[in-house]
This record gives sequence, structure tokens and C-alpha cells, in this order.
Amino acid sequence: MKGYAMLKIGEAGWIEKERPACGPLDAIIKPLALSPCTSDVHTVWEGAIGDRHNMILGHEGCGVVDEVGSLVKDFKKGDRIMVAAITPDWGSIEAQAGFGQHSGGMLAGWKFSNFKDGVFGEYFHVNEADANLAHLPDSISPEEACMLSDMVPTGFHGVELADVQFGDTVLVIGIGPVGLMAVAGTALRGASRIICVGTRKKCREVATSYGATDFIGYKDGPIDEQVMKLTDGQGVDKVVIAGGTVETFEPAVKCLKSGGRIGSVNYLGSGTYVTIPRIEWGCGMANKNICGGLMPGGRRRLEKLGSLVSSGKLDVKKLITHRFKGFEHVEEALLLMKDKPADLIKPVVVL
Ligand code: NAD
Ligand code: ZN
Repeated sequence: MKGYAMLKIGEAGWIEKERPACGPLDAIIKPLALSPCTSDVHTVWEGAIGDRHNMILGHEGCGVVDEVGSLVKDFKKGDRIMVAAITPDWGSIEAQAGFGQHSGGMLAGWKFSNFKDGVFGEYFHVNEADANLAHLPDSISPEEACMLSDMVPTGFHGVELADVQFGDTVLVIGIGPVGLMAVAGTALRGASRIICVGTRKKCREVATSYGATDFIGYKDGPIDEQVMKLTDGQGVDKVVIAGGTVETFEPAVKCLKSGGRIGSVNYLGSGTYVTIPRIEWGCGMANKNICGGLMPGGRRRLEKLGSLVSSGKLDVKKLITHRFKGFEHVEEALLLMKDKPADLIKPVVVL
């Protein structure tokens, strides 16, 4: 079969591979729609997870079941399915502790385009099908299902990590697709004010539609100073970080109230240390909590987040700015993600 792969750090291209084999608990999926992610860009062009050779990229997609293992109960050939970017081993000790995303080791629940071939192939493999697939209802289109693989669960996880509560004033740093979903999740959780860091016009428009109330630009001076000005020196209750670099934590800590929380889902692709400002962190005693996490995967979460889309409470179509038809366009869509034209939020390739 054909697949679009990372050839080595800095290089991606089409390759031929064997169709994946199906274990007794697993499924083989033929994609219906695919979407590239900023993480694919970090992986190939920044070498953020180290070198990989001829590894098929992609972890956002949905499809049709082509084959299931003998022990799979709830899915059969021909079923339309959604799948999350993170596919834990649910029997692992880490999953039993509530962190399936780290089953088998730190970040190891992230298998697609990390430890095994991703979804940008004519077929892809899903471990533990009953626990990692969800049925794709007719009320969710394949392109919407792609947003449920990673953008929705990651943005919402940032909100969970920050523990956003009714009435909170929340700062969302970075309003690419993940940050936009953090805005939507923050609004659903009942925040009263949502201050966003981001300058692109298109992103600001979409953020406003999801509930953003104020905007600042990270190129317009220190983020913390702008936030303090906007909040009359009070600062914010919570911060969600969905963009920027290792340096983004410093202003986040500075403008966070004592007792506040930072939820970061940003993938720090470069740098060695994250800087936490000692004084504004209360010399270590400010009760300003910093939580960084990988989105949890799994069927139950997919079904619950999917129900927000089917019920009309969350419109993910606003994230999709570029649409392609045909598998061969995966390359173009990924390069678009790398180049990030100003009007891009998320490209989707429908097969
Ligand atoms: P993106 O690159 O489209 O969006 C990030 C945004 O942040 C961009 O609009 C960029 O202009 C902006 N930005 C850059 N520097 C900034 C700064 N200093 N301050 C504020 N904003 C700044 O990426 P995305 O697809 O929205 O994903 C966001 C991050 O989440 C990426 O690092 C991605 O790899 C990561 N990610 C994490 C998980 C997870 O499970 N934790 C899953 C998926 C993606
Ligand atoms: Zn992704």
C-alpha cells in the first residue's frame, strides 16, 4: 500500500509498505478523511521526537473498518468509525492509574506516527479496537470526525488541566486549532472572560464566535503586561497554553493569580528548559499550578465529545479552512500546515 511518511528528520515523501497485520483485538481501517497536524510538522521538520525512518505520518482521521481481529466484539467490516490520535493499551498499569495516554511509558499511548505507522496510509492499524474506536454516527461528517481525533480532545484537555470553572477569567495562549478548541471548551465550562493571545484575523474571528472576549498580540509587548492592563492589575484565574515556546510559561505564571492553574497542551518542539519566574511564582509558594498533558484517548471520550458535535453544541466545521479531495492531496495539506498561510486553521483531505 501507499503511505505518506517521514523519511528522516527534515524529509517527508510517499513510500510503499506492507498493509498492516491485524491482531486478535485490533482493526484495520481504510480512511474516509484525514487531517495533518502541527505535531506532524514538529515531528518531521523539528525532529522533536527524534529520528524516524519511513514512518507513515498522521494521527487525525476517520474511516471504514476493513478487517477486525477474532476477539473484537463491537465493530465489523464496513462500520464507519472515529478514532483518537492517542490509542492506549487499556490493560496497562498506567491506564489503571487513569493515564492511558502514557501506557507503556511516557507519551507511549501516542502510537500513530510516533511508535508505529500513522493514518496517512491506504490502510491503518488500530490496537484494542473495542476500546479505541467509536462508531461514527450519520450526524457527524467525516471531516468533522477528523477534528474529533485530536483538535477537540486536546483543546478540551487544556481546559481540563487548567480546571476552568464558572465565572473564571481565562487566558488562552495560541489560537491555532487547538487553542480555538480551548476557547470553545472554556466557554462551555462557563468562563466569564476569555482573553486570547493571537493576531491572525481569521483565528480571531473564529475565536470570537466560540466565546473569546478580548485579544492581545504576543508581538505587541510582554503578554503578562498586556493581561495585567486589561484586568486592572488582577491577572487571570486560569491559563491554557496552546502555542508558543518554552518561553511562554514565564508570562503565564506572571499574570496568573495565586491559586490559579496553567493547563498546557503545547508540544514544546525545541529548547532544553522551561523558565518559571521565581518571584512571581511566590518563591515557589504561590500555589500557582502548572499542568502539562497529552490528550487522553479512548472510545468513551470520543463518544462524549462526539455527542457535543451531533447535538449542535459544538461546531467544529469553523476550524476547517482548506478542503481537498483525494488521498494524493495529503502531501499538499501537510505542507500547508508547515507553511501556515494567514487564512489557514485546519486542512482536511476527504478520500
Ligand atoms: P498551531 O501552530 O496551528 O497554533 C499555535 C498558534 O500559536 C499559532 O497560531 C501561532 O501563531 C501561535 N503562537 C506562536 N508563538 C506564540 C506565542 N509566543 N504566544 C502566543 N501564540 C503564539 O498549532 P495547533 O495545531 O493549534 O497546536 C497547538 C500545539 O498543541 C502544538 O504545539 C501542537 O503540536 C500541540 N498538540 C498537543 C497535543 C497534546 O495532546 N498535548 C495534541 C495535538 C497538538
Ligand atoms: Zn495532532
